[in-house]
Amino acid sequence: MPTVWDIETALYDWAPRELAESWDNVGLLVGSGNREARRALVALDVTEWVVDEALDCGADLIVAHHPVMNCRWHEVQRIVDGDTQGRILTKLLKCDIAAVCMHTNLDAAEGGVNDLLARLLGVERAEPFNEEKIGRVGTLKCEKSLEQFLQDVVQSLGCRGLRYRDAGKPVRRVAVGGGACAEFIPQVLALGCDTFVTSDVKYHDFLDANGLNLIDAGHFETENPVCEAVRAYLAERFPQLELVRSTSHAESVIQYYMK
Ligand SMILES: [Zn+2]
Repeated sequence: MPTVWDIETALYDWAPRELAESWDNVGLLVGSGNREARRALVALDVTEWVVDEALDCGADLIVAHHPVMNCRWHEVQRIVDGDTQGRILTKLLKCDIAAVCMHTNLDAAEGGVNDLLARLLGVERAEPFNEEKIGRVGTLKCEKSLEQFLQDVVQSLGCRGLRYRDAGKPVRRVAVGGGACAEFIPQVLALGCDTFVTSDVKYHDFLDANGLNLIDAGHFETENPVCEAVRAYLAERFPQLELVRSTSHAESVIQYYMK
């Protein structure tokens, strides 16, 4: 049986630690590295439901994309069960479930979040569009109308809705940035892209994105495809390890209400 450390090391072989942003927190974040792992649950986030699911299915560890704790989001100064993060950490520790998180290193890695997103959207010859290698830019095989492209995005990522700005041009040269990448809009424009697919786009980002078909396809939807890739990668590396895809976190918590 592999140990939790073996699993962490294997994931770093794919998505090296050095690729993570300096502010990020990746790798084995909770639990014992030397414990043997028979079963691992793969999810995008370590939510309370995901921890319960890990308990129910007898998982020894959770492999997630978003760090279970990251000081950029929440300063972790105490672990008490009066707040969500404290409850998650307490339960993981009590139940001896480890958490291994591969975040911006997996965004940047070959075959990681952004490569998968580009592939799913039919973006060919996808190259990183900046030094951090967070996003990708490439071209569609054939030019498409924005309408057609929006339909394809919904279909390939399973989105229940999209927010977008129509620049009045067809889609050919496309940038993608899984998760919140609106800060790269100026770079994407400078690269001559007509279309950018990302998420968590603010009103003012839409206003400033002159000349760009800007599509907010959802944070969960643009990143979740990596979970299946993580599952398949670990299944190949560790045939004895039982891998379970999360069903409690199989869709975004965000709902759309249409009048
Ligand atoms: Zn994300």
